[in-house]
Amino acid sequence: MNTDKRTEISTLGEFRLIEKLTSEIKPQHSSTIQGVGDDAAVLEYNEDKYSLVTTDMLLEGVDFDLTYFPLKHLGYKAIVASCSNIYAMNGTPTSATVAIGVSAKFSVEDLEELYSGIRAACDDYGIDLVGGDTRASMTGLAITITTIGEVGKDKIVRRDGAKLHDLICITRDLGAAFLGLKLLEREKIALGGVKNGQPKFDGYEYLLRRQLKPEARRDVIEELAAQEIIPTSMIDISDGLASELLHICKNSKCGARIYLERMPIARETYKLAEELHLDPVTAALNGGDDHELLFTVPLALQEKVAQLGYGVEIIGHITEESTGAALVTPDGSIIELKAQGFHGN
Ligand code: ADP
Ligand code: MG
Repeated sequence: MNTDKRTEISTLGEFRLIEKLTSEIKPQHSSTIQGVGDDAAVLEYNEDKYSLVTTDMLLEGVDFDLTYFPLKHLGYKAIVASCSNIYAMNGTPTSATVAIGVSAKFSVEDLEELYSGIRAACDDYGIDLVGGDTRASMTGLAITITTIGEVGKDKIVRRDGAKLHDLICITRDLGAAFLGLKLLEREKIALGGVKNGQPKFDGYEYLLRRQLKPEARRDVIEELAAQEIIPTSMIDISDGLASELLHICKNSKCGARIYLERMPIARETYKLAEELHLDPVTAALNGGDDHELLFTVPLALQEKVAQLGYGVEIIGHITEESTGAALVTPDGSIIELKAQGFHGN
């Protein structure tokens, strides 16, 4: 441990920490097209395709709570979350490795449950599970997924290609997964550890599904290809719309305006937010776990994109960098977007 100087990690936050740790790293191989800084690394081993690599770790007690998150669903969601990063590059996931740290509280049957979810997601998304690592941990469960994919060189979409006047699109309503999590947390407290207690989820099945069994948007990526639409920029919405739009703005050196009345928020999201005294718009902007895609397209494609279906909605447009990124309310007020997520990292 370095004892001369001590800086608390919390003074930097996740993104500045990653920047600090990786800014000096220079690629040594001409095959490294893109290192740190997008949804996936981009590597070149082939004349007409790039390889894509993405890694994500999930930690018990930080990213999931097993008192209400079934292991099968957790395995499924871990793969979905990982391959969503490959779709965000306009790519196709092909293979994955899974590394797990497991404490003695888990049985073989528990891990079989976890893997039944992992296998189901790999089947659904056409991914070969090709390796991993298994270690005993002191406490809890840690899951690290690395997914490898590919994309045609002329099809790759990064975070840095948004241009002035481009339309900003998202692939479905936002905030539902976050409210699903709040519902699970509420019922956990209400039941207070009562064995075989029956949680009350009536009317909120959609929110639970969005939290417990999310989808990666392969359908949208395939439809964009079928319609010959290549977005100018794209990112996976894992940490909330605000922080992801700010990534696009930073990397593309642009500003953005999104419109409150255009923001899709599901009826169930409004209803539960009201019950729990939460702001549904804040949930849509800063709630995580949606695993939808945020992308930009040239203004000339407005009609084509409006007719896409698959939940795709146009919510705003790209502006000059100096204008910053903001939400415009129906009365014309402008609220600056901040990356502060509900998750506080
Ligand atoms: P995401 O939300 O898509 O998981 P992150 O914010 O975790 O993205 O990561 C941003 C970028 O930083 C990615 O390119 C990722 O590969 C890279 N990255 C994250 N953590 C590390 C690390 N510890 N060392 C090197 N690169 C990292
Ligand atoms: Mg990450």
